Amino acid sequence: MSAGRDRTVEIYRRHLSSGRALISEFTGGHVESTATGARVRTQQDEFLDCGGYGVFILGHRHPRVTAAVVEQIHRNPMSTRLLLEPTAAVAAEALVEVAPPGLQRVHFVNSGAEAVEAAIKFARAAGRTRLISAIGGYHGKTTGALSLTARPVYQDRFRPLLPDVAHVPYGDIAALAEALAAGGPACVVVEPVQGEGGVVIPPQGYLLAVERLCREHGALFVLDEIQTGLGRLGHWWGADREGTTPDVLLVGKNLSGGVIPVAAVLATDEVYEPFSQDPLLHTSTFAASPVAMVAASTSIAVLRDEDLVTRAGQLGAVIVDRLREVFDQHAPHLPTEVRGAGLLIGVEPPTPHVAGDLVLELYNRRVLVNHSLNAGGVLRLTPPAVLTDADLEWLFTAFADAVRVVAARHAPVPERTS
Ligand code: PLP
Repeated sequence: MSAGRDRTVEIYRRHLSSGRALISEFTGGHVESTATGARVRTQQDEFLDCGGYGVFILGHRHPRVTAAVVEQIHRNPMSTRLLLEPTAAVAAEALVEVAPPGLQRVHFVNSGAEAVEAAIKFARAAGRTRLISAIGGYHGKTTGALSLTARPVYQDRFRPLLPDVAHVPYGDIAALAEALAAGGPACVVVEPVQGEGGVVIPPQGYLLAVERLCREHGALFVLDEIQTGLGRLGHWWGADREGTTPDVLLVGKNLSGGVIPVAAVLATDEVYEPFSQDPLLHTSTFAASPVAMVAASTSIAVLRDEDLVTRAGQLGAVIVDRLREVFDQHAPHLPTEVRGAGLLIGVEPPTPHVAGDLVLELYNRRVLVNHSLNAGGVLRLTPPAVLTDADLEWLFTAFADAVRVVAARHAPVPERTS
């Protein structure tokens, strides 16, 4: 069942979010209809999707993932949860095979925030009741996860959140050492690169130093790879960039293949022991549904078979270089930093106003990008690793045109000569 454009907007206004309905009026009221690869079609137009909040490393509707999911729907979409179920076993083994060493246990959940919640419970079960996360970090918006997402605009209306949570500057090892020394057993939760924080890449060696400090202080080291994991950074994991080994690793977004929501917590045998002993200690009705499990295992297979992790690294380097040239050429008076790791790319113009203008001008050229939830002044691109040459051409042409328009709008005012 589907509704046309006007009716969709009207139902959003009345029954979903009137704020979303209002935004859609500014952006022409487009309503998604179909999607393939990097292209999303509305009833009137086609968009190049370089946003998607990091979900579509395989593009939209990768044929192998959709085929596996459709086949599973016809066979056994939801499990009894009493009998053992083979798709979960296959997905768990597939994840462990590509995971950093030592992470032997997999706990499937339905969303990134649920993975964070589970990690918090793993930490508590292991006696680590104090939590430490990084300023600018994003870990989701359920109440436990939100306690780690240190942003007043998301937190303030929901206090009190979890107690005993400290936030330290990202990339600052001395600050983390101080926080760890300041209390009892802790659990440290950080991202390898802060995505929603505005594509913040920490100094080389940061993750290894975090791991070392956690070992010294008996803290649990949780690496949140919900946005960075499964190829986004041009490596299987952000952990691989430094050869670090967390106690717990969180994965989501790309695990879905862009087809069925699914996330997971990977843990060492030791950390998972209480949950392994008592499988009812932390459960969720829909977790590890067979449709999600085949999406997960097939997505991992596609990443490997099509060598998309390497491709993400190559494409990312090409895009970053080209966007830097565009800004140098067309907007020298608007010093803009373009930075990235693989296909997690941030574009930070001198002011949030310029960033907002750019998002809209790209939208006018039918290119979708995201702003960063914790850094409104940073445009974020998380394009698929299956971008074609035609997609790249579209992206670069749109960027050059959009930057030219925005550069003219924000032209320096000539000095008056009297
Ligand atoms: N952790 C990180 C690093 C994220 O980027 C996100 C979402 O953007 C989350 C956790 C929360 O995931 P979800 O939105 O699926 O709950």
